[in-house]
Amino acid sequence: MYSHSQDIAYARSIIDTLSSPSFDGRGYVNDGDNKAASFIAGEFCKFRLKSFSRDYFQAYTFPMNTFPGKVEATINGKPLKAGEQFQVWSAAPTINSLFKLEELKGKNITDPKRFKRFVARNHAGKFVMVDKKGITDKHLLSRLDSLKYTNFLNASGLIFISDQKLVWSVMAGQQARNYAVLDIRREATPKKPRNIALDIQSSFVRVHEARNVIGYVSGKVQPDTFLVFSAHFDHLGRMGNTVYYPGANDNASGTSMVLDLARYYSQPVNQPYYSMIFLCFSGEEAGLLGSTYCAEHPIFPLKQVKFLLNIDMVGTGSEGITMVNATIFKDAYRRMVKINADNEYLMAVKERGESCNSDHCPFYKQGVPAAFIYSMGKEFTEYHNPDDKSSLLPLSEYKDIFRLVRDFMDGMKGQDKR
Ligand SMILES: [Zn+2]
Repeated sequence: MYSHSQDIAYARSIIDTLSSPSFDGRGYVNDGDNKAASFIAGEFCKFRLKSFSRDYFQAYTFPMNTFPGKVEATINGKPLKAGEQFQVWSAAPTINSLFKLEELKGKNITDPKRFKRFVARNHAGKFVMVDKKGITDKHLLSRLDSLKYTNFLNASGLIFISDQKLVWSVMAGQQARNYAVLDIRREATPKKPRNIALDIQSSFVRVHEARNVIGYVSGKVQPDTFLVFSAHFDHLGRMGNTVYYPGANDNASGTSMVLDLARYYSQPVNQPYYSMIFLCFSGEEAGLLGSTYCAEHPIFPLKQVKFLLNIDMVGTGSEGITMVNATIFKDAYRRMVKINADNEYLMAVKERGESCNSDHCPFYKQGVPAAFIYSMGKEFTEYHNPDDKSSLLPLSEYKDIFRLVRDFMDGMKGQDKR
């Protein structure tokens, strides 16, 4: 039994579960994303949410290059730590060999003649290590970045030296190339790099079956009008059999809030005025694929959606939240700011303009009033790395963000009586 509107223990337990190793980073290896979809549907079931079809699922497919097996790199005979010291580009092929290393840095980049000479050399069978340190010329930098896609050196592979914590990402539909690209942390590279041994197994999955999870609570007064809470539950999955990306903040946090809201509104005493839809997307990390599919193949009439609020990364909050599309939906933004001030929930509700950076975007493109909120704060900055885990995620303002979005949606009623 619970009488309080929300209970952070529930959110924490959901985040713990979704970011645990058994969900494989909610990606494509071991069907991690589908394990998460089934788990979320189980929660919907507990709350007795209604469904628009015979179950809560909306299925679709996309192609994805994956790393289900070994991902190992050894430089000058010293093994590197996957995920932390090195990462492979999501379009890397299967590769198992030793390669000579060549360095591309300093004057070989900045002196046009020397750069030309370097490019003209034969790099076949070698890996070129690109060090952008000290390069400020934008044109040169973008030339070097384009190497990743064009491999104009015709090398067997490329290595980019990174001075920052590594940030991994995935992309749908990219078949493995015939060359590999790696990012390696500077401190993991030797003074005189000679060779690199790689053992990388990649597997291109032509048809990955993914599912969105969709449920709703009927409105008490106007059930044919919908308010929508959405969040993506997928993450990056695995980069090899030893590294997985927990994605606690991105976006087990938002998923837990949507489930928590579903739990709240499913209690008879909290039955909403309008119908309330709870939309959990897959395929976000692969390019907003789940939300795009859902917006283009809607299973509820989009014209009847009064507002969609997307929640993506809400594990912090010491500096408040930001609302994307605030400058488009000014009334909604002003109301959010007022509710926040009246209740002294958060430090700030900052405004931001249009940005197609999360799952609100495909709906916004279809004409649905939609905004996206994320939390801000320096108390947690892990992003797309193996440290985005529940044990480190503070959930500083979880409760107040929950209250704010709940009050915001509840305040939608009467907005149409003008
Ligand atoms: Zn992400």
